[in-house]
Amino acid sequence: MVWLRPQAALGSNPPMSNDLAIHPSPTFLADVEARSGEHVSLCYQCRKCTSGCPAAFAMDVMPNQVMRMVQLGLEDELLRSRTIWICAGCQTCTTRCPNDIDIAHLMDTLRQMSRASGVPAGEANVVKFHKAFLDSVRRHGRLYELEMIGLYKLAAMDFFGDMKLALEMLKRGKLKFLPPGIKGKREVRRMFHKEKNGNEEKG
Ligand code: SF4
Ligand code: SF4
Repeated sequence: MVWLRPQAALGSNPPMSNDLAIHPSPTFLADVEARSGEHVSLCYQCRKCTSGCPAAFAMDVMPNQVMRMVQLGLEDELLRSRTIWICAGCQTCTTRCPNDIDIAHLMDTLRQMSRASGVPAGEANVVKFHKAFLDSVRRHGRLYELEMIGLYKLAAMDFFGDMKLALEMLKRGKLKFLPPGIKGKREVRRMFHKEKNGNEEKG
């Protein structure tokens, strides 16, 4: 079966060629359900997730459409979308879903799948921010904001943007010069290690 590529699902990454045909993946739904443990096939498009989402205004695919795209196997279109990177993980959608689908968790799974698949992400700088955030948490057991900002700025090659804001935060003590000292750093590292190995095994 051949479908025409929906414009809303393209995000900021246009198709590589003039071929507007899309080729649904027959295994995408099963793969997403297995990785996330969420029963996406139960979604019946009530749109409660979308109507409560505070980030929907910035998304190119609405949360309920994400569910439908998974059901239809629109893997490439979804993994390229801006939505999966714009989702703030606030879980409003999760608490509203009548079918107990943890949509916030699903978005996290889709981000991981997008990174693993190597498709260009719909929001390049969000991906860099995401990576800087996780690298910092992995190293220190929790977020070390100053380091994360440095890592992100380096990756995004944006050295002077937000400088005034950073100085103001330093002045007010919102950014600490030294990394946080917390218990359980080793356990956090072990979690990251386990997650990485699990993903490698899944392929
Ligand atoms: S978790 Fe993401 S999709 Fe769900 S309501 Fe929050 S921002 Fe929207
Ligand atoms: S709230 Fe749940 S059932 Fe309703 S559209 Fe969203 S995911 Fe589907």
